[in-house]
Amino acid sequence: MKTHTCCCDDYDSNSLTVEEALQRIDQDLQPIADEQQLPIRSALGLVLAEDILSKIEVPPYDNSAMDGYAVLGADLPTNGQAQLKMVGTSFAGQPYNETIQAGECARIFTGAVMPMGADTVIMQEHVERQGDRIIIGAEHKKGQHVRPVGEDITIGQVVLKAGKQLLPADIGLLASLGVPEVKVKRRLRVAFFSTGDELCSVGEVLQPGQIYDSNRYSLYGMLTRLGIDLIDMGVVRDTPEEVERAFLSAARSHDAIITSGGVSVGDADYVTDTLRRLGQVNFWKIAMKPGKPLTYGKIQNAIFFGLPGNPVSAMVTFYQFVQPALQNMMGQTKRIPIRLTVPCLSRLKKHPGRMEFQRGILENDDQGRLVVRLTGKQGSGILTSMSQANCFIILPRECGNVDEGCEVVVEPFEGLV
Ligand code: AMP
Ligand code: MG
Repeated sequence: MKTHTCCCDDYDSNSLTVEEALQRIDQDLQPIADEQQLPIRSALGLVLAEDILSKIEVPPYDNSAMDGYAVLGADLPTNGQAQLKMVGTSFAGQPYNETIQAGECARIFTGAVMPMGADTVIMQEHVERQGDRIIIGAEHKKGQHVRPVGEDITIGQVVLKAGKQLLPADIGLLASLGVPEVKVKRRLRVAFFSTGDELCSVGEVLQPGQIYDSNRYSLYGMLTRLGIDLIDMGVVRDTPEEVERAFLSAARSHDAIITSGGVSVGDADYVTDTLRRLGQVNFWKIAMKPGKPLTYGKIQNAIFFGLPGNPVSAMVTFYQFVQPALQNMMGQTKRIPIRLTVPCLSRLKKHPGRMEFQRGILENDDQGRLVVRLTGKQGSGILTSMSQANCFIILPRECGNVDEGCEVVVEPFEGLV
């Protein structure tokens, strides 16, 4: 990547790097101990607390992968043609229970049990049918189009490991093994609120000098998608008393508290000081943009994240720090987010000194090549940039401006399952 240094850099010796902050959070956290037994549908999105070993083989019997005819491999002609006599039919769910002898075949459908003796399936399109006889050519291989018993899963095989978050494919897989219930980590309980005298909630009439509170809504969305039990504590006013009261009430019965706003060093920023008084501050500043002020610590048994108030900063810091922290507490095995290196079609402005998370649109160009471009204005208050983006463009701390056409690292927002 081409970089240029600039006179007005973004260095701040009090800031932790993104990597140091992640490491501190990681060292500080432990998965919750409580487990519960749940029906598999209710366990969707939760984290397995046990390894799942299969008690059956999948598929449970040799079966046909095609609609066609079940034959003996020994009857396949090596050249010319062979004629076989049809002696019965095996439907899915209605097997043919006789043994196929030399010179015989059975009509068979996809998923039907292979009749005894037969070991090969000829697709119906490759057969000439004459009454109860079929004629086959020499192009077939013994064993073809048969799905053997245990092909997917054998008895005793570990199919899902403790620490796996159960996604739609996983609950389908559990069902395919006949497993009705699983042991999972209990849902995390998280309280969240916004701080700020200027904030007005949706449904209220905006007064002069007010803005609508958006962070509580994006936070609600991000937390809900993680499968978390939420308490929305609303908007807390910028006074030390109100902030303290909210902290104490949130800490009582929650695993984590997440706030936004009030973490800078302004006169009305009480979050970090209140945490210092009632609990412990681990760190409060990170060399990143957006999201420089970010308070992390503990209050009683709850971990605490004080996110910055700017809407984009709140979301970026959530995805980079809060989400992995909560997943760790949920008992989830650590996952390294997928990052890709792709050419960037936009010129990117940046000063060295902070890691930046610019918002990008990752797409295929007209030659099918994966490329990224900037969403437009990158201010930390431009929430439309998060809504339009489908990835972060991650620029390392030391990097300066990036010229059009240079390669950059991107982190896509979401996976398919
Ligand atoms: P603060 O971190 O409290 O200094 O806030 C930084 C900026 O973010 C200010 O412009 C606030 O008005 C804005 N802000 C703070 N909280 C919210 C919120 N919940 N929703 C939308 N904007 C907010
Ligand atoms: Mg504020």
